Amino acid sequence: MTYQNFSLAQLQALDAAHHLHPFTDHKDLRGAGSRMIVRADGPYVYDSEGHRILDAMAGLWCVNVGYGRKELAEAAYKQMLELPYYNSFFRCSTPTPVLLAQKLAEIAPKSVNQVFYGSSGSEANDTALRLIRQFWVLEGKPEKNRVISRKMAYHGSTIAGTSLGGMSGMHDQLHGAVPNIVHVMAPYAFENAEPGESEEAFGLRAAKAVEDAILEAGADKVAAFIGEPIMGAGGVKIPPRNYWAEIQRICRKHDVLLMIDEVITGYGRTGEWFASQAYGIEPDTITTAKALTSGYQPLSALLVGDRVAETLTEKGGEFYHGYTYSGHPVACAVALANLDIIEKEGLIDRVREDTGPYLAKVLQEALGDHPLVGEVRSFGLMGAIEIVADKASRQRFEPSGHAAVVVRDHAVVSGLMMRATGDTMIMSPPLIWTRETIDTAMEMIRTALDKAAQDLLK
Ligand code: PMP
Repeated sequence: MTYQNFSLAQLQALDAAHHLHPFTDHKDLRGAGSRMIVRADGPYVYDSEGHRILDAMAGLWCVNVGYGRKELAEAAYKQMLELPYYNSFFRCSTPTPVLLAQKLAEIAPKSVNQVFYGSSGSEANDTALRLIRQFWVLEGKPEKNRVISRKMAYHGSTIAGTSLGGMSGMHDQLHGAVPNIVHVMAPYAFENAEPGESEEAFGLRAAKAVEDAILEAGADKVAAFIGEPIMGAGGVKIPPRNYWAEIQRICRKHDVLLMIDEVITGYGRTGEWFASQAYGIEPDTITTAKALTSGYQPLSALLVGDRVAETLTEKGGEFYHGYTYSGHPVACAVALANLDIIEKEGLIDRVREDTGPYLAKVLQEALGDHPLVGEVRSFGLMGAIEIVADKASRQRFEPSGHAAVVVRDHAVVSGLMMRATGDTMIMSPPLIWTRETIDTAMEMIRTALDKAAQDLLK
């Protein structure tokens, strides 16, 4: 039986009857019905009614090599026939996670050489939290267990992921967060910088918020700081240039581990394999998922720095943690084929040298002067457009979050998949986009903004 036997209305009715979607107002969705995406090719997805949509979100920040890659399907097929599954518990291993771990050690920052697998970014962050707490126990400092994070951070949707994240709506529904996690100011200049404050001064002030939290708790109580190099789901918030070097300096000064969440920024999005390399930092853990397989298989890899890994492997004692699908052979085979494509097609160099700088330029030229646009910003192939009611004062529309949804809906109707988060429009296209694709997207966004202006400014 295939979906072609069903009409859209029938599929929507079944969807409403049986399928609870992630991050959804279920009552609302039942009224509206889902858009059925039924196939995809290159940079495009197609819905059940035949509409072709340019996917400026790469699925959900993950399809970095684009859709329809036969090499990835073949890698999965071959591995499934040879060995579809075996676990890596009880002194067993399978070859593909081993070869992938070696490859990841090769492309990661120099001091990062070990890998712990899971199936999602959330799982990887759970692993990271358990691992760094275990690290301090093995170091004889069990009281060093507090983690500092940031408001507006997104680190996943499990209990630990939500606790690490700084999304207030998610925290309100937690009813009991993982203890000893505190959240400080995000390095988000558009809303948090003082009038006239330079980028550098704001970067130092945002980093000082982390140091203040360390000093408040006492450095002997603080295990780690966690952050996304560029906050993704929170609205592509790009920190001041000096922020990460200063955070690293502060962490080293107080002997606090640096946990970097590269679930979105990993595997080429910023024009380097990892944003840590773009910012010149050497983290103790790097959480990765999504583009590790370009989304073709669920797989995450927590990359573990030498300091943490050495303590774990030298001091020993069982680390009571792991997942059935840790090091899944099929997912790892697809990841190897995916990294191969990224390398062979020079996609990272293209982002760094060509499409990344081009996106930054045309975002400004094509959209910067639009009356609804308070700011455009980008880094590699991640971009954001701040939607405002008044350009000069940066005043937002009421109610908060509504205006960006209006722009987003016009964009989708005009054939472009973008996302609205709060009052910010965000994009994160596949790395296969060319200058021409970027130009096409800019025209569509401009049209969507014009239509939204007619709705919002009347
Ligand atoms: N960390 C970051 C930075 C993310 O953006 C996400 C997902 N968007 C996650 C963690 C969680 O990943 P997953 O949805 O695969 O659990």
